[in-house]
Amino acid sequence: MPKPAAGQPAPAPAPLTPPPLKVDGQVLARMRTLSSHAPQSLVMEGGGAPDRVAAALAWAGILNCLEGGCGACAVCKQISERVFRDLIVVDREFFEEAKREGVSGTDAMRRLLPVWGQPPQGAGRRVTIFVEAQDLHVSVANLLLKTLEEPRPGNVFVLLAPQRERLLQTLVSRSFVLTLPWPGAKALEPDAAEWIGALLDFWDSGQGWFERTGTKGAADRALALRILSGLQHELVGALSGASSPVARRLAKLGPAGLRRLDLVLAQAQEAFSQPTAPVALVLDWLATAVISKGVRR
Ligand SMILES: [Zn+2]
Repeated sequence: MPKPAAGQPAPAPAPLTPPPLKVDGQVLARMRTLSSHAPQSLVMEGGGAPDRVAAALAWAGILNCLEGGCGACAVCKQISERVFRDLIVVDREFFEEAKREGVSGTDAMRRLLPVWGQPPQGAGRRVTIFVEAQDLHVSVANLLLKTLEEPRPGNVFVLLAPQRERLLQTLVSRSFVLTLPWPGAKALEPDAAEWIGALLDFWDSGQGWFERTGTKGAADRALALRILSGLQHELVGALSGASSPVARRLAKLGPAGLRRLDLVLAQAQEAFSQPTAPVALVLDWLATAVISKGVRR
């Protein structure tokens, strides 16, 4: 574990044995089928961020364990602990480590090029996982694209993102896309569902929203976060052609509208990372930004 820089608070100690996340059985079966002709690049969307990482590690296990990902052998254990020699995880920590060494993210990626030019050390595949690939700097994403354009014998790449729409289209078009089930696939909570219904009405009619948010104490931060996560869930549904009533209404926003909703949700979520975020203001901004054409990231 890298030492924290001077003056930085020490990170909270990691739990000694993080509980292994279970990967959905259908996804596992799908990956086992895919493994006979493993695509050079696999996009994993859907699920929650930890589900995507777990699925990507399972993919590495399937491609490297002699038993096809038994979960118990030395290879599987090394993969789950992320110390396997033919596993590269490009995540926030990867870029922070580079930063501490005074190396830019792009240069840190460039250092991997000769590695990818070599076959894996073991008998399986070298798996490089890009965690939350939608957050990659554009120059890093372009370098990744160039990498995917060349044959990399023995190497496979996994790009994790909430939805494929958040990645460069050119990356997605070079990849096989695997969609994980939404966590728990639970129905919207009633209060969040009611607010989301009102929001959809507002997008249809332009009415009824500000009266709602303007009522003192109408929505607190917890409810707002439930509304955001409910919308995020339904957005994934709308993008994958799900037929829930909310997903069907969202689909009417069209591809550009859904992309805008995706960006607006991400920004609203970011706003709520501040505990003092003004709930009604953020919700009003969300309501108007989705339907105004001028929104830019
Ligand atoms: Zn194994």
